[in-house]
Amino acid sequence: MRYLPVFLDLKTGPVLLVGAGELARAKLRLLLSAGARIRWHATDGDHDVNGLGPDAAAIEVAHDDPLTADLAGVVAVMCAGAGDVGVLMAARARSVGLPVNVMDDLENSSFIFPAIVDRGDVVVAIGTGGTSPVVARRLRERIEALLPARIGDLAGFIGDVRKSINAGIGDMKLRRLFWERVVDGPIGALVLAGRTADAKAALQNINDLPAYAGANAAGASTGHVTLVGAGPGDPDLLTVKGLRALQDADVVYYDELVTPEILDRIRRDATRVPVGRRVGKPGIGQDAVNGLLIEAARKGQRAVRLKGGDCYVFGRGGEEIDALRAAGVDYTIVPGITAGLGAAAQFEVPLTFRSKALRITFLTAHKERDAEAVDWSALTDTKMTVVVYMGMTAAPSVRSGLLAAGRSPSTPVGVFARVTRPDAQAAIGTLDQLPDLVARIDGGPAILIIGDVVAHSAPWRRQNLKHAISQLLEPA
Ligand code: SAH
Repeated sequence: MRYLPVFLDLKTGPVLLVGAGELARAKLRLLLSAGARIRWHATDGDHDVNGLGPDAAAIEVAHDDPLTADLAGVVAVMCAGAGDVGVLMAARARSVGLPVNVMDDLENSSFIFPAIVDRGDVVVAIGTGGTSPVVARRLRERIEALLPARIGDLAGFIGDVRKSINAGIGDMKLRRLFWERVVDGPIGALVLAGRTADAKAALQNINDLPAYAGANAAGASTGHVTLVGAGPGDPDLLTVKGLRALQDADVVYYDELVTPEILDRIRRDATRVPVGRRVGKPGIGQDAVNGLLIEAARKGQRAVRLKGGDCYVFGRGGEEIDALRAAGVDYTIVPGITAGLGAAAQFEVPLTFRSKALRITFLTAHKERDAEAVDWSALTDTKMTVVVYMGMTAAPSVRSGLLAAGRSPSTPVGVFARVTRPDAQAAIGTLDQLPDLVARIDGGPAILIIGDVVAHSAPWRRQNLKHAISQLLEPA
């Protein structure tokens, strides 16, 4: 982030606008819509404000030279269609510490304008650091389509009553829960449907404000733990429900598999606690994690346990839920996209295929010990796709186990690393070559998929094409 988005209160003083023509008039329109007082130095002497509506009364026409004019009380300086005067004005504004924007001139600007979605009290500002207005505009279109038309009314509705309601709820956390319930529940729906009077009545009908926020008999917020599967890495693969849990959390305990892009989606004020292994350091251990979750819930917090992939696929979610249940803590489980499914989608491995692949087995072979514990004889069915988690180090045992069980050495195999992340990687070949394929991978996490369906995968098709071309090009 190169520019920090902030919202400037234009009621605190005049904005100095330097410039002429349509560009200056466009800025006038924008500033008027924000209720600004404007002092306008028209660099071509033409101060025509026709067509700007009744608000144009807020424009004060200045006839003196902007380069020597008094800047006392001015909140910001903007130049549009001002030519060289704009550059000189920018230097002057900066020398006295005033924020300045020169249109289409990043170098001389200390702030830039975002693309704006304006819904009254709700304003969305979209910036691209000045790199691409087109990207910003496209985003704006999408956000326009996404936001309920009356979202500004909803914010205004809450703004009107917030102080008086907050006075009736002492606990800060309960206040947040209360307003979440209003926004997400029937009262919010009434406002969004244009029935503000009904919404107001419904709000007035709430007798016990803390209880509405979900407080317990002692008047405190009740804690809750949500196990959230974060998916294999791409933040767009978080579920909507998972994202909501991250946005509502007071504290998030996360694993080493969770990517920074996903951590970025956590509510900014939430506490983040890494509990997984980190480079060279062991994790804090399952019992300690269980203890932290229980402790957070008992303090009335909304805790999220965030894990790579899905919580119930080699994620120890079962143990955590057992502990929470034993401790009498409320919990919810939000599924995530497990790594095997992420790999299958990204590299186009159909895990089942009509009449060719009728079963899928997910297994783990973390250590040689795990690999030895696997009953490979149960995996002889050639119509079974085998997905191996944590199988990098045990790859030689996976190979020998499957070969001993009678799987053909030519069975297609894929090693898929860091799937759905920007640096995802695949190595494909045959079961016989498995350890060599693993050696080609530049780092985990990686998953193995074994079975005929791997021959349908995109990397397999590419490799075959390469092979065919090289054969064609080979001199006879
Ligand atoms: N609960 C997780 C699995 C945790 S076990 C899930 O459902 O995906 C850790 C193993 O998952 C890793 O050793 C690797 O085999 C696999 N894994 C997790 N994320 C991965 C990714 N982005 N790419 C490839 N494999 C991944």
